[in-house]
Amino acid sequence: MKLFDEHFLLRILLIVVGTLFSVFMDDLIAFEAHPYWIIPYCASVTFLFFTALFYRFPPSISLNKIRKDLEVPDPSTNMGLVQSDGLQRALEEKESLLNMFFSHSSDGFWVFDLPTGKVQWSARAAELLGVPLDELGTSLDSLRSLIFESDWTKFSNMLSISLESKQKFSLDARPILGKNIIAISGIPQLNAEGRPIRLFGSFVPKADILSFKNPFFLDELTGLKNRRYFLEHLKEKVSYSELHQDYSFALLLIDIDHFGRINDVYSPQFGDCVLKLIAERIVSSCHSQDCVARISADIFGILLHDVPIGKDKSELVEFVQSLHSKIRQPLQLEGKELLIGASMSVILNRDLDASEDLMSHATTLLHNLKSGDCRGNIQFFSGGLREKAMQVYQLEYELRKAIQAKAFTLVYQPVVDIEHGNRVVSFESLVRWNNSERGMVPPSEFIPIAEETGLIVPLGELILRGACRQAKEWVDLGYSDLRIAVNFSAKQFSQGDLVKTLQSILAETGLNPRNLKMEITEYTVMNDTEKTIEMMRQLTAMGVEISIDDFGTGFSSLSYLKNFPVHTLKIDKFFVDSAVEKEEDAAFVRMIIGIAKSLNLELIAEGVETKEQLEFLRSEGCSMIQGYYFSKPLPPAEVLTFLQHSNGLNRSSSIKQLA
Ligand code: C2E
Ligand code: MG
Ligand code: MG
Repeated sequence: MKLFDEHFLLRILLIVVGTLFSVFMDDLIAFEAHPYWIIPYCASVTFLFFTALFYRFPPSISLNKIRKDLEVPDPSTNMGLVQSDGLQRALEEKESLLNMFFSHSSDGFWVFDLPTGKVQWSARAAELLGVPLDELGTSLDSLRSLIFESDWTKFSNMLSISLESKQKFSLDARPILGKNIIAISGIPQLNAEGRPIRLFGSFVPKADILSFKNPFFLDELTGLKNRRYFLEHLKEKVSYSELHQDYSFALLLIDIDHFGRINDVYSPQFGDCVLKLIAERIVSSCHSQDCVARISADIFGILLHDVPIGKDKSELVEFVQSLHSKIRQPLQLEGKELLIGASMSVILNRDLDASEDLMSHATTLLHNLKSGDCRGNIQFFSGGLREKAMQVYQLEYELRKAIQAKAFTLVYQPVVDIEHGNRVVSFESLVRWNNSERGMVPPSEFIPIAEETGLIVPLGELILRGACRQAKEWVDLGYSDLRIAVNFSAKQFSQGDLVKTLQSILAETGLNPRNLKMEITEYTVMNDTEKTIEMMRQLTAMGVEISIDDFGTGFSSLSYLKNFPVHTLKIDKFFVDSAVEKEEDAAFVRMIIGIAKSLNLELIAEGVETKEQLEFLRSEGCSMIQGYYFSKPLPPAEVLTFLQHSNGLNRSSSIKQLA
């Protein structure tokens, strides 16, 4: 209701006129002389005041006109009275018109009957909410589990206010299962006493949720939903599925393999285009009711709506496999053809207990996939994996404690030069964790967890300090040219100040940087290239040598070798093993040896176990050998014995003969 509507203003005007009139007339007319004037005077004043109180404007549209428009006979006319069946027909037509409107409009409708508390929903209303009509029932409460919780709270508040104030209300709501944002509005119908008896409501579909341009929920680059929206939507889906036992959905995470390298090798803009194309591929494979989001730089998340739970989940498996192969199809961009790898984790909500966190399980699954040998594959959640995830959590906890307690030791494996009488040229330091309950935990089990959790930074510092202190001891014993190689992870380059840490450890232990070698993988080199290359320059300027570990197993772009200050390549054990078995792998090893020679890089073959492997490498011109053939990694005390039993001990020389 308007505060100053026409009626109100007119009434004020009449009261003012009435008051003026009574005051003026009182002064003008001498009532003692003409007492009969008192009657018209009082009548006029009363008329003015009554008019002021009860006057209403005539309605601007007459009821008759509406009837005429709809061709409904006026029941007060003769015609109406005579043709009462005509009136009946008109009413029926009106009802059927209403029904048609209710069932065929592109908007959804609902009528809330207050005396019975029942709601009647139109089929379109159910469609907009994303459920079959019969699932809605007749209670308003069924809406509660179908829209986002915060929207429901807003809706129920507005509804109560509307019934109290008798005014209409409207709000935007996000259905959990529907694909459109819906504008909900409602207006109360009043009875003759002005009390609400019914509430008429409508659902008007708004923007498609996927293209809904709310920057708060939008990933600018791809136009998909962002992490914030995805997590909220996931929460809503979980609560919905708790209320509807037969509803199941799946959570998929898709990680684009080596995406950082695409950025490095081409450009970040090129990488952006790749992400957009992948986003398109994902969206075109999904149903409009599925929620697709980019949840971090190169990870996409999907919530698959209403997944049928067959015995073998065959439909889900089929869908996931076809999506995986679609993403991996060659991608044409700016005249280049790219092959994209993608790792995927998949969890069906029904496979977890309600209290378990779907997202963290899916993330762990994805990490396991990426850090193991299965990068680029699909991993479905199973009970066994849950146990594995628990073991990972436990291991992480114990790892933290072990770092605090400095419960690690280092072993050292010699690198031998077979061209110069089997001389020991360096030792690689390898970390060992002797856990009181688990026994010796291999680095392949705990280093990936330390990398994921960032614990590798403090652990790496412990290792570096230990290796430098040990190397200094051996240098002081006379092995002045001995080099110790220490393994470094990519995270150590990207987190903390590695150069400063190294400088302070060298100063603290008194080791000359020339006695130190750093082993990093191709991945470290390609990760955050600008920063890494700058750090590598600073390190080599100090005299530290850099080796590329596991060469050939990572990214195949060789261009970085020219530009980066790399001193040594280490051929991975995998190639050494297969070179003697397969001709094509032998050709690969020959190629690596050729690259190292042409770029004037030192070459070390890792994991050499047999004479046959050794002879093959020797014949191809690779002379630096590391592996069980000569020695397993040794504890420090045995390193000295190993050196002392070498031929022609000459402590002033770095050349140590082996027996
Ligand atoms: P890596 O740096 O490539 O180390 C070589 C691995 O191959 C070592 O395994 C070594 O014991 C093993 N190895 C050497 N020769 C042979 C052989 O002839 N046969 C067989 N079967 N294996 C051989 P280890 O010590 O288990 O280390 C595994 C990986 O863990 C290392 O691979 C490295 O990536 C990581 N790692 C080890 N120590 C450290 C460390 O101190 N810091 C970091 N960041 N990573 C480390
Ligand atoms: Mg290594
Ligand atoms: Mg290696």
